[in-house]
Amino acid sequence: MRLPVFSPKFTAIAALVGLINFNSVHARTATSEGDEAQITDPVEECTAYYYAPVTNALDGFPTIWQPASILSNDTEALSTWANISQSVPTNIYPHGDIYGDWNDTSYNVASDPDCWWTKSLCTTPKLSSLPSDIASIPEPETMGYGFDDGPNCSHNAFYDYLLEQNQKATMFFIGSNVLDWPYEAMRAIDEGHEICAHTWSHHYMTGFSSEDAFAELYYSIKAIKLVLGVTPTCWRPPFGDVDDRIRAIAEGLGLQTIIWQYDSFDWEEQSGNITAAQVYANYDNFIAKAGNGTFDSEGSIMLTHELNNFTMQTAVTYYPKLKDAFKYLVPVGVALNKTQPYVETNYSLPTFSEYVAGTTTTNSSGSSNSTTSSGSSTSQSSSATAALSHTKDSTLFAMIFLGIFVLAV
Ligand SMILES: [Zn+2]
Repeated sequence: MRLPVFSPKFTAIAALVGLINFNSVHARTATSEGDEAQITDPVEECTAYYYAPVTNALDGFPTIWQPASILSNDTEALSTWANISQSVPTNIYPHGDIYGDWNDTSYNVASDPDCWWTKSLCTTPKLSSLPSDIASIPEPETMGYGFDDGPNCSHNAFYDYLLEQNQKATMFFIGSNVLDWPYEAMRAIDEGHEICAHTWSHHYMTGFSSEDAFAELYYSIKAIKLVLGVTPTCWRPPFGDVDDRIRAIAEGLGLQTIIWQYDSFDWEEQSGNITAAQVYANYDNFIAKAGNGTFDSEGSIMLTHELNNFTMQTAVTYYPKLKDAFKYLVPVGVALNKTQPYVETNYSLPTFSEYVAGTTTTNSSGSSNSTTSSGSSTSQSSSATAALSHTKDSTLFAMIFLGIFVLAV
């Protein structure tokens, strides 16, 4: 085969185009939900990207990752708080501080007047106006499957695995993470996972003033609404730190409090306080209980996270064992037959019986604001379209640059 002979000028131009394409592949940032979902290198997954709807709305939120307060010019938040505050008890005071330092508090754990879960594991409020927390689930031999602290920017391998297994879960998202990683949040809802709130900045909720605790919840659900187009109706307190004062604020915002019965302590492995082996032992213990009939009359919830590579890899490693041990693994909302998981009515979850019969998603309209996503059934093709679109963008850019270069030389 005779190779064409290129002029030095053409070779220089081709090399330049090659360089542009090289850069677009290896130093790029994500341009869409589908594009982000296709990245496999965790470092590249966590390269910050620009998403205009978030950038344009940042003035309406507290500083990301900082403890929240109501913005002084946020009239909607202020009026919502004015309504809710009337049903928040004023005789329950903040416990310690928002960093979980309770050294100076003298709480009577025995009488547990505030139903403070952190001290007593209380889930039935002392205030009769409040519903009980969800700690177990009514379906026997069933695990309410869910993960806290997302969306994690490097969760693609984990979410790919869940997609392969056609397994849906309840994702407890931190508001600050949602604004940092909107495409990752979109992927979760578009693949059929249930979204609950996990506060704005992930601090100990009973340490906040009532108004600031409201802000922690209010801005987390506002972030989810901004990015996903839906308003959650469930939340989980970071560290499980909840009492009747915080429950009343959550109730005022229409948020069901979801806690857990078992803790994998996967979140603590990275701190070095416990070993991986201890986390595995916690999983094994939970699985053993499923095997010995502990959950024969009522299902259960274990605390697990999409916090880091270890917690996600451990979830993948243990998924087949959990599937074997339990009859069903379902999102918490599905276990509760909560077919309308959000305030907005254009999104639904399957009933428990529908889910276990194989209908793991019922939503077809899609809810996120992503322009490249719709229902879960089309998320893969959306990804492909997005990737194609990105390639076209790169090529167009290269062609424009090439034109300038040719004119210049
Ligand atoms: Zn958490």
